[in-house]
Amino acid sequence: MADTKQVIQVAVPRPLHSVYDYHIEAEHPVPQVGARLLVPFGRSEVIGICISTEVANPHTSTKAVIEVLDTEAAIAPELLALAQWMQHYYHYPLGEVLATVLPSAARKGTVLEIKPEAPPDLWHLTNANLISPRAKTQQAVVDHLARVGDAQSGEALEAAGFNRSMLRKLEGMGVLIRRAAPTQRQMTGPLAPSDEQQVAINGINAAVGFNVFLLEGVTGSGKTEVYLQSMAAVLGAGKQVLVLVPEIALTPQTLDRFESRFGGTGMVHSGLGEGQRLQTWLRCRAGEIKVLIGTRSAVFTPFKNLGLIIVDEEHDSSYKQQEGLRYSARDLTVKRAQQLDIPLVLGSATPSLESFYNAKRERYRHILLTQRAGGATMPRYQTIDLRGQSLRSGLSDTLIRVIHSHLEANGQVLVYLNRRGFAPTLVCKACGWQNVCSDCDARLTLHRQPEQLICHHCNLRFALPKQCEKCGHHDLLPVGMGTQRAEEGLAELFPDIPLYRIDRDTTRSNAQLNSQLEKIQVGDPCIMVGTQMLAKGHHFPQVTLVAVINADAGFLSPDFRAPERTAQLIVQVAGRAGRAEKQGEVWIQSYQPENPLLQRLISQGYRGFAEAELTSRIQAGLPPAQPMAMLRAESIDPALARDFLSHCKASFESAAKSLHNVTGLDILGPIPAPMARLAKRTRFQLVVLAATRPELHRVLASLGRPKTHHSLRWSIDVDPYDAM
Ligand code: ADP
Ligand code: ZN
Ligand code: ZN
Repeated sequence: MADTKQVIQVAVPRPLHSVYDYHIEAEHPVPQVGARLLVPFGRSEVIGICISTEVANPHTSTKAVIEVLDTEAAIAPELLALAQWMQHYYHYPLGEVLATVLPSAARKGTVLEIKPEAPPDLWHLTNANLISPRAKTQQAVVDHLARVGDAQSGEALEAAGFNRSMLRKLEGMGVLIRRAAPTQRQMTGPLAPSDEQQVAINGINAAVGFNVFLLEGVTGSGKTEVYLQSMAAVLGAGKQVLVLVPEIALTPQTLDRFESRFGGTGMVHSGLGEGQRLQTWLRCRAGEIKVLIGTRSAVFTPFKNLGLIIVDEEHDSSYKQQEGLRYSARDLTVKRAQQLDIPLVLGSATPSLESFYNAKRERYRHILLTQRAGGATMPRYQTIDLRGQSLRSGLSDTLIRVIHSHLEANGQVLVYLNRRGFAPTLVCKACGWQNVCSDCDARLTLHRQPEQLICHHCNLRFALPKQCEKCGHHDLLPVGMGTQRAEEGLAELFPDIPLYRIDRDTTRSNAQLNSQLEKIQVGDPCIMVGTQMLAKGHHFPQVTLVAVINADAGFLSPDFRAPERTAQLIVQVAGRAGRAEKQGEVWIQSYQPENPLLQRLISQGYRGFAEAELTSRIQAGLPPAQPMAMLRAESIDPALARDFLSHCKASFESAAKSLHNVTGLDILGPIPAPMARLAKRTRFQLVVLAATRPELHRVLASLGRPKTHHSLRWSIDVDPYDAM
């Protein structure tokens, strides 16, 4: 005990026990809590985070810290507290949580220093004729700039999917030129709010301290204007604002609406390089960036003086990280707003049942926008009964007639399908055999151009079989509809109408998507056919008809969230119709149009649907009424995964017996996952439902970090988004 060396606690980015004691040698300063440190670990050196300098019972033989990397904490106290909360909520090692919270450049030890602003970076089009013929991406840049009509910042072009090395190449070719930004850009003022918008803005602006608002506004009701005017007051008081958006919504148009109102915006999205991301992070921390717009991971950005958080499309699945640390960025904003004692606005036309439930229990304040902005009216719904109908490329005669009439009236038409590719399966006409993936329990999707079979789950590709593997018959028939097949059929039916297919295959990059969207925005009659990509946030003022090819699958899936997701999708796609002067129509094809969920959605709108669905979740004891966690395990040898989950189950059950006040535990499984075999591994799952959150967490925590076989992969998912 004579030893007085300074011992500190360090979290290292490793699983298992990720917190260790180290000592600081006399020549080093004692680090701040939250500072990065280089420490020896096993046979290597890692960068860890100092989490405590006052260690009650230090380990007797500690290793020395090699280097203290920060004088100021890299992880601010507020974010360290958030990370510690996540450690217990998501049952994940602290060192690895901290590794997620830090931007990757900081994780690797980059000096945390703001670099001077980059040279002028506004790109103009000078000579479009100089591009190489057939260079599609070059053409896309030119089209984009021609259409936007003025200079674009490198950042905006990057967000649109064009990387800087390509821009510089075009600069070298004389196609583009870079000029300094004008000192003042064209700013836009606030719109005169509608009565409903005004009530919403007043409510948010009057909030003092922690308050969560659920802004439920029908599609096209002007939620963005409410965000903007709520932000104005906060920015006026010298504070900063964080705006989270789903990945796909991060189009230059969205960014423009914020930038042209306030200036000084920064953004975080997947197209940013590590260095740029770190610079944005540092500028927010220093208070230089006033408004940060970002996707999921932006929730971990430090701010000097954050005054408001906004989450747009709060129901969107992209806020939930589906691997590693399975956090929900939306849920974390609630925690952060609470810690910082500031207001939070969750906005959506189709709120998640979680938020809806919280609003009903008056944990959140519910604000409604029931009218569309600018006088546009809500679209009208119609269903088409597919029973006994002969279809052409999945379209009934009625639907074909309706499409005709909308095109004739100069409207644009949007056709929605939930499957990319040509046809979801290839079936033997003689014996009914179907092509399945060699590595998964999944049917293969037929694709054209090039013709191949693709597994949408593991992405394996196969050549088309010449004959049935079971009976040898040569007649193999594509069954069902994919976007490629719909495109082919629509092209035959409407040969003179421009047709745009929008799905993951046609829009590999934001650049491709934006160039298609820009052509559509011109407003001439056209048909868009695509997947849920079309549903998200886009503003298509000229669309008067939305056609849903088939609404059935989603309402019949075994996943308890499937009806909610399907209703959200239908309402969001439908919301693209009639956003301007013209009345919009939504036609839904179905083999069971009398389905009560569909009927309720149509007759009472999303709210009526949500009320009913929430009631049935409460009755079934499912989230959000009861908290859920899902344990997943997978291995080549199925017994390994199943036995591991059985062991977990036994340990939860015995914990429930020995812990006080754990009564309402419900453990289902282990059962095979809905798709039991994926990429050669067999997957099992165990669902844990508890009466209350504290009970759930105490039971999960009782597991500790169990010993496992090296070839077993397993995870705990708290508040799982899908039961797949
Ligand atoms: P939401 O996000 O709720 O679907 P948006 O914010 O995209 O709706 O708004 C839809 C359209 O209505 C936009 O073109 C927007 O500029 C317009 N708008 C919003 N508020 C007003 C207003 N108060 N007066 C006129 N137009 C408005
Ligand atoms: Zn056969
Ligand atoms: Zn597969």
